[in-house]
Amino acid sequence: MRHFERKQNLFLNKDALGESYQPDQIEERDEEIEEYMDALQPVIDGWEPNNIFLYGNTGVGKTAVTDFLLDQLQSDIEQYDDINFTVITLNCKTLTSSYQVAVALVNKLRPHGGEISTTGYPQQAVFEKLFQELDKIGGTILIVLDEIDSIGSQDDLLYELPRARANDKLDGTKVGVIGISNDFKFRDHLDPRVQDTLCEREIQFPPYDATELESILQSRSEVAIVDDGIEQGVLGLCAALAARDSGSARQALDLLRLAGEVAENQDADKIKITHVEAAREKLEQKRIEQGMRELTSHGRLALLAVISKTAKNEAPCRTKAVYREYMSLCESADIDPLAQRSLHNHLSDLRMLGILSSNENRSGSRGNYYSYELDVPFSSAIDAMSDVMVLEQEIQTIRDIAQMNNVL
Ligand code: ADP
Ligand code: MG
Repeated sequence: MRHFERKQNLFLNKDALGESYQPDQIEERDEEIEEYMDALQPVIDGWEPNNIFLYGNTGVGKTAVTDFLLDQLQSDIEQYDDINFTVITLNCKTLTSSYQVAVALVNKLRPHGGEISTTGYPQQAVFEKLFQELDKIGGTILIVLDEIDSIGSQDDLLYELPRARANDKLDGTKVGVIGISNDFKFRDHLDPRVQDTLCEREIQFPPYDATELESILQSRSEVAIVDDGIEQGVLGLCAALAARDSGSARQALDLLRLAGEVAENQDADKIKITHVEAAREKLEQKRIEQGMRELTSHGRLALLAVISKTAKNEAPCRTKAVYREYMSLCESADIDPLAQRSLHNHLSDLRMLGILSSNENRSGSRGNYYSYELDVPFSSAIDAMSDVMVLEQEIQTIRDIAQMNNVL
């Protein structure tokens, strides 16, 4: 008996919907591209590069546009013999200080045995090594520091690197820095000197709207999915859902890929609206689970209390009522309950995570109070709870009550 068999194949190239795929074509970013090209123009003219700072939420095309334009620049520059041009790209996601970024850059530039250890040198010594390595390459160098916001306030390198030439640290090498940040606050918190140098040119990438996302999905699906593999309206739905939530192309592409997987698992001949809906629920559930994993046991109990009130058709409900429910869950779980005020903090955290939503109600002389309800589908919430919690019996009871009340 065979264990594996090929499924109905809806994907031409599934990787084209994945993280590492580089599109040949950028949709809907003409203005940003124009601004970006203008900022890069000095490179091809042989002048010192601008330092450029790019910002926008995750998934709005910062990395894709940068890769695309720098590839283009690299190939267009070949027609000029007098420019020796190098791009160095570093993703800083896991690096939390200038020091670590500088070490990573040095080690990228001397990969064969010359690597330096990640601790133990004075910071300035690492910077000097970096300048030496850059001078060895010479010519014009653009250093792309992607997801640079992870270095937080330890931003010295972002001052030193763009100013190295002016400060005679470099021997004629022309260095420009492209900093990319998912977090605009990062820019505001930079040292003002760093802001002046690094943010010479600033380009903002706004979230995509549904129309833009649909055109990105359209062009990507031509590479990724077989002809006639998509039912009418599917791309529009993926685009609308992602636009409403984040405006992220990554989210829209993830949704389409997962919908395709659902469709294949059901041996469907097309990706249909129902597959997108199923995919959305799965993604939602993953998000909630991720959020829940980060919760303390009291945070989880607070959430379970709201879930339980929802099952009883008693949501939205006030903190006080959630608290009573929480107390009784604590008792079942044999955990000492927190005070109502602390529970309130947990409820706020859950709201920040997008798992709960709250309304502020004014009640005249007695001041304002909040009422809470689930901001995610009941079924996703309770399923995620069963995965992370041990209160099996209580969770089953809540399911039964929900079923009785037609909540589930
Ligand atoms: P960011 O770096 O802003 O987080 P990315 O550049 O990684 O976002 O984009 C996320 C995904 O969406 C990638 O797969 C990328 O190829 C795709 N993408 C984003 N914007 C566009 C666009 N304008 N045209 C085509 N694909 C895009
Ligand atoms: Mg990126």
